[in-house]
Amino acid sequence: MAKKKTIAAGSPSQRTPPAQRRARSSTASLPAVPDAELRRRAKRIVGVLRRLYPDAHCELDHINPFQLLVATILSAQCTDKRVNMVTPALFARFPDARAMADADVREIEELVKTTGFFRNKARNIQGASQRIVEAFGGEVPQTMEELLTLPGVARKTANVVLGTAFKAPEGVVVDTHVQRLSRRMGLTERSDPVKIERDLMALFPRSQWDELSHLMIWHGRRCCDARKPDCDRCDLKDKLCPRVGVSIDVEGKESKRSGQRGVMTSGKTGRRGSRKSDDGNGTGQRSTGRRSASR
Ligand code: SF4
Repeated sequence: MAKKKTIAAGSPSQRTPPAQRRARSSTASLPAVPDAELRRRAKRIVGVLRRLYPDAHCELDHINPFQLLVATILSAQCTDKRVNMVTPALFARFPDARAMADADVREIEELVKTTGFFRNKARNIQGASQRIVEAFGGEVPQTMEELLTLPGVARKTANVVLGTAFKAPEGVVVDTHVQRLSRRMGLTERSDPVKIERDLMALFPRSQWDELSHLMIWHGRRCCDARKPDCDRCDLKDKLCPRVGVSIDVEGKESKRSGQRGVMTSGKTGRRGSRKSDDGNGTGQRSTGRRSASR
């Protein structure tokens, strides 16, 4: 059996810089201030990902903010592909917030059944629709504060809607892919999605927040798999990605265990981060780690 080793951050600059660590320890609730070298590496990572995925975009089919909101709620613990299979019939039957608010919830359940957790999702979709009608005149609100008042909408879902539908991101969408990749790339040491989001917000300009999440999600789905990242053919492997927590055997092949997060060497006590994900609807369900289940 091939020996396994776990790659830690390759150089001091690829690890979290001391200044950033100090900032975290003293002001844990505030975004850390990354050093210039980390910023430069982050900028180059975005450049490579842009070149690889010039068409990166949200893969949930939608034609308006309401449809995106509903699709995002449905995407918790489910693949975008599966969501895109159920939404055409759902939106044909209930095309807007008013129609969804007045629907028989059992009919919504039936239409979204195959996305999993369907009773909870149907209840949240109807609850959000009712609030949109009652408090916002039938239009999806355009601020984080207002979006967070909708049933089933947590920060991640709100970020998807604000960034993709309104082009006004107030943060970075941190789904399971963004969580995994940003740690492997050494852009954060955090496990908690909200803290990862703060680190990424500090590292990238606001103008890139929406694009960044799409780029990472696309790279996570196509190359940096949770269980078996394809580092050999990854354009980031040489100088840009320290592959934090990725185990490889001595022949250089990624191990099946490489998706384990927080397994670090070089004396670092890798946080064995909780697998609990922000599923976007506040259910706190555990991530399945299924390939391409994005949110
Ligand atoms: S595939 Fe490997 S080199 Fe590429 S981003 Fe993922 S961990 Fe880094």
